[in-house]
Amino acid sequence: MRDGSAACLVAAALAASSVGGLATRGAQAVVRTADFNVRGLKASDFPRVKQLADHIYTFEQIDPTKRTVTVNNLIVVTPDGVLVAEGQGTVENTRALVAAIAKLTPQPIKYVVVGSEHGDHTGGNPAFPATATFIASPYSKATFERQAASPGRRASARPVVVPSETVSDRRVLMLGGTEIDILMLGRAHTGGDLEVYLPREKILFMSEVFSNRIFPSMANGYPSEWVETLKKAEAMDAAWYVPAHGFVDSAPILKEEERNFRLALERIIAEGRRLHDAKTPVESASASAVLEPYDAWTRAGNNAFGALQRVYMELDGQLK
Ligand SMILES: [Zn+2]
Repeated sequence: MRDGSAACLVAAALAASSVGGLATRGAQAVVRTADFNVRGLKASDFPRVKQLADHIYTFEQIDPTKRTVTVNNLIVVTPDGVLVAEGQGTVENTRALVAAIAKLTPQPIKYVVVGSEHGDHTGGNPAFPATATFIASPYSKATFERQAASPGRRASARPVVVPSETVSDRRVLMLGGTEIDILMLGRAHTGGDLEVYLPREKILFMSEVFSNRIFPSMANGYPSEWVETLKKAEAMDAAWYVPAHGFVDSAPILKEEERNFRLALERIIAEGRRLHDAKTPVESASASAVLEPYDAWTRAGNNAFGALQRVYMELDGQLK
């Protein structure tokens, strides 16, 4: 029944975007990439909604600042309201997310979990309806409070939504009969990443702790702790590892890619340590690092230097 309704949804999405020749795509091997051009898709194929389980969906939309990669949301529909993991980066994209949810259910959005505090996941937050309560880690809540109070903010700037509730370790939310665990598995991409876990459906939304086939963006991260956070996620009873960036592929592919993502982090840390020990100046680190095959991942050119620099900072005791 779940497969049937998922197939219907995919068929409807294909018909709606009038894309021909993609109907057999599910049966073919997908190109492992986060770039929609390389995947053979078009910007007009997005946003797209995918059904993971009876009442659980993902929303994938191309982010204007990332150009070719998606920002993803998890949507949990219950008879007592909706929980959304994460927002989008712009008001326009969050409006599209809210509209997509309204097509799935008449239920109001009751909770928005801020998994990553970064602008490409929070910039559109003012577009969520007033029914939504925002939940973040204490670390991220403090970030939003600082942003809201910043004297440098232009009067014309969009309002910052400061979450009213926090989760520092684990909060179990029962919503319309669905157990939703909001987790802080450890520092990773930011100092306050949150994950959303559905134990019955075995779905784990990873936020930016996991990106599918994108070279790790570590400029604000905690390299060694990030690896440990991923290992904790891998030890959980999850069938779906849902990334905040990169396509929501099939469950087996995502499981494989989550491990690949950890291996990429481990390689970056090992290479950073090798070069740091050899007293290679950080400015030359990305030119000297051996990062195959990860240097062919999407956005490697954007992210490699910042990642190695962050490893140097950790080794120099600059990350507290
Ligand atoms: Zn992001």
